[in-house]
Amino acid sequence: MSDVTTPQAAAPTRYIPSHIAGDAATLTPLQRELIGRASELGPHFAERAERFDREASFPFENYADLRAAGLLGICVPREYGGLGADFATYVMVAAEIGRWCGATALTFNMHVSSCMWSGFIADALEMSEAERAEHARIRALHYRRIVEGGQVYAQPFSEGGAAAAGAAPFGTIARKVDGGYLISGKKIFASLAGAADSYGVLCTLERPGQEGRGTRRDSLYLAVPAGAPGLEVYGDWDPLGMRGTVSRNLAFKDVFVPEEARLMPEGLYHQAATRFPHMFATLSPTYMGIAQAAYDFTVQYLRAEVPGMPPVKRRMYPTKQIAVAEMRVKLEATRALFLQNARDARVDPDKDTRMRLYAAHYTIMESANDLCRLAIRTCGGQSMLKSLPLERLYRDSRCGSLMLPWTAELCLDRLGRECLYEGGERDEQIE
Ligand SMILES: Cc1cc2nc3c(=O)[nH]c(=O)nc-3n(C[C@H](O)[C@H](O)[C@H](O)COP(=O)(O)OP(=O)(O)OC[C@H]3O[C@@H](n4cnc5c(N)ncnc54)[C@H](O)[C@@H]3O)c2cc1C
Repeated sequence: MSDVTTPQAAAPTRYIPSHIAGDAATLTPLQRELIGRASELGPHFAERAERFDREASFPFENYADLRAAGLLGICVPREYGGLGADFATYVMVAAEIGRWCGATALTFNMHVSSCMWSGFIADALEMSEAERAEHARIRALHYRRIVEGGQVYAQPFSEGGAAAAGAAPFGTIARKVDGGYLISGKKIFASLAGAADSYGVLCTLERPGQEGRGTRRDSLYLAVPAGAPGLEVYGDWDPLGMRGTVSRNLAFKDVFVPEEARLMPEGLYHQAATRFPHMFATLSPTYMGIAQAAYDFTVQYLRAEVPGMPPVKRRMYPTKQIAVAEMRVKLEATRALFLQNARDARVDPDKDTRMRLYAAHYTIMESANDLCRLAIRTCGGQSMLKSLPLERLYRDSRCGSLMLPWTAELCLDRLGRECLYEGGERDEQIE
């Protein structure tokens, strides 16, 4: 066997991590530019990540950087002063942020979702002309707060019951009153709790004669300002991973919001959830970034290029080469599905596209954790010391497939059913 270790004899002597999109040449100029902005902020995020993780505190400094870079308005349409990023552009930027700080990327997703759902997703759905005009008026107020005021929106959705899995109406109720709505209920795991300027709350609109009840069609998406009377942030926050998300609980006791709080017209959220399923697939880009970070760390570690570590190389052992090759195979397979999914997002995707979406979401969430596991096993004992980022990546990566509405279990559940049943089929119809 030749002792030539790489095909490129004149290659640089330090490892150069891959572009998050694999081949940057395939990107649009806007995609290249925005991913580039995130990469420039990245090293600062990485430097601060250990502190936010140790303290379980919110990454305010990172948000100041995102604000200064104009990235808070990434998915605000251009006509409202934003950067007008589409789904594919956003998920690649989110993955690049996740590569440096998972908690920042995950919370950034909650903020950006408020712009995507009210922005290009709402635009793709059916509305009357009057509804569309009213939605344009209202979203302009929210987008101005984000683009000019630098405000941040959270997205409390989970309640601890079946609603966040899409299996029941939200238990948080919005009652129509003069000039707006009164909200009552509670949310758990509200990332950015105590840090957001507004909370984009999913509730059920109470119809006349249906006290405290409603159907999933009555879901309503309302922005509640952080200082609204009757809103309380409560509970401890000391979790395994994603500690910088500060995902505490929220209680709403007759919280009044004006009609301008509607981030989507009444009835539109249900249409979005049934017709634009990619809206739920924006949590996984964070974990694509973590997967890339775990791989990058492993290569740097084995090449003795991790700052602060003794210059002891371990790359010459065949076991390490095989392990890193397995990691690369998993990383490339994950990235391929991630990129395909980024391109697939559209209203009314066909069945194959929807199944690919579940497969992609599942694969990214599970591979991120598996790559971190392989990274620790391959690098060894010293690599899991708290002075290095790998053990945090490992803990953060564990959180992805727990997140509703599409936990790893629920992705398999949906996928398995759709693999074996065509629309409307029941068992008794199968011979
Ligand atoms: C770091 C972090 C940040 C988060 N941030 C947010 C946020 O900003 N906003 C937000 O709304 N939520 C957020 N969440 C919450 C998250 O999306 C889930 O709602 C939460 O993790 C669910 O926890 P649970 O134990 O209550 O799940 P449960 O509802 O008790 O479910 C437990 C498991 O049972 C399975 N299951 C649930 N329902 C069904 C069903 N109908 N059929 C079959 N199986 C089912 C699922 O696989 C699930 O993993 C966050 C979670 C984490 C870990």
